[in-house]
Amino acid sequence: MLVVMKPQATPEQIQAVCDQIQNLGFRPHPLPGAQRTAIGITGNQGQIERGNLEELPGVAEVIRVSKPYKLVSRDVKEENTVIHFPGTDATIGGTDLAMIAGPCSIESREQAFATAEAIAKAGAQFFRGGAYKPRTSPYAFQGLGEEALQIMAEIRERFGLRIVTEAIDSEALDLVAQYADVIQIGARNMQNYSLLRAAGRKRMPVLVKRGLSATLEELLMAAEYVMSEGNYQVILCERGIRTFTDHTRNTLDLSIVPAVKRLSHLPIIVDPSHGTGKRNKVTPLARAAVAVGADGLIVEVHNQPDMALSDGMQSIYPDQYEQLFTECSQIAGILHRNILRGIKITESVGATTSASL
Ligand code: PEP
Ligand code: MN
Repeated sequence: MLVVMKPQATPEQIQAVCDQIQNLGFRPHPLPGAQRTAIGITGNQGQIERGNLEELPGVAEVIRVSKPYKLVSRDVKEENTVIHFPGTDATIGGTDLAMIAGPCSIESREQAFATAEAIAKAGAQFFRGGAYKPRTSPYAFQGLGEEALQIMAEIRERFGLRIVTEAIDSEALDLVAQYADVIQIGARNMQNYSLLRAAGRKRMPVLVKRGLSATLEELLMAAEYVMSEGNYQVILCERGIRTFTDHTRNTLDLSIVPAVKRLSHLPIIVDPSHGTGKRNKVTPLARAAVAVGADGLIVEVHNQPDMALSDGMQSIYPDQYEQLFTECSQIAGILHRNILRGIKITESVGATTSASL
C-alpha cells in the first residue's frame, strides 16, 4: 500500500500519517519526491485498511501496490534515486556516471596503493577492493580481512577515493560499515536475507550484485529487503549470469539495465569484469554498458594482473583503464551524461554518509 500525500501537505501531516501507520502495526517509509511525498507501507501482518488513512489531512490517495516489490518501485517514487557522498562531488544515480575501480582483492599495501594511484590518475572517484573474498575453494586466498580495510581507509585518506568493499557475512558487515563508503553484497549473497536486512539497518549505501541465476524480480526483491529496513540508499549491479556460453565466464545481461530503469528508481551499475571474466572483453562491454544507460561501472584493475591472487584473468592494466575511462566518457557525452574526472573533496567528514533519498 502507498499513501500519496498532496503536494501542499505539511511535514506535520506527513508525520501524522506515519504515526497512524505505525499504530496499525506497519512500517511507514516516507519517500519525498520532486512534486509530493509518498509513504510506502510495509509489514507482514496482512492488509491494511485503506479507509483508516484516506481521511487523514494532507492525504491525496491511498493506492494498492500490486507488484511484489514496493519501495524499489517507480510507482512509489517516480524520480531517480541519487546517492550523495557528503563532503565530495561524487554521486551515484544522477547525470554523472560513477566510476569504481580497483583490484579484486587487497593483497598488500604496495599492490593496493599502486593500483589506487593509477585509477585515481585515470579519473575514478571510487576504489573497490575485496577484504573478505567469497571464493569457490576454501583453499583459495580469502582476503586480508580488517588489515585490508585499514589499507583502504589509508587510500581514502591519501587519494580521496570513496571505498566500495564486500561484506560476506554479518561479522564482516560491522567492520566494513566502519571503514567503507559503500557496502557491497556479493552475487553469492544476493538471497542471503538476514545479511540484506542487516545491511538495511546500516545507514550507508549498499551495492547489491545480481545473483548468478537471479531474475530481475529476484534482484529487485533483494533490494527491497535492504529498503524495508529503512535504508533507501541502494545501488543495483549487473555482473553477469550463468548460461551455457563458454567463451566468457558469465553472460553480461545488459538488457537488464533498461528493464530496471522502467520498473525502479534505483541506480544500476555494470561490472564488465565478472560479467566476462576475460581481460580483452572488459573494455568493449564497459562501453556497451554506458551506451545502454548504466549509472556507472565497477571494474577490476590490478597493477600486475598476472600476479593477482584472485581474478587476474579479468583484471585490466592501469593503462587499459585509462583508455576505458576516456572512451566511456565520450559515449556518456553522446547520451547527455557525464563522467567527472577525479573526486573533489569539498569538506572533511567521517567515513559514513548520511541516509537520504
Ligand atoms: C567481486 O566483486 O570481487 C565479487 C566477488 O563479485 P561477485 O559477487 O559479483 O562475484
Ligand atoms: Mn573479483
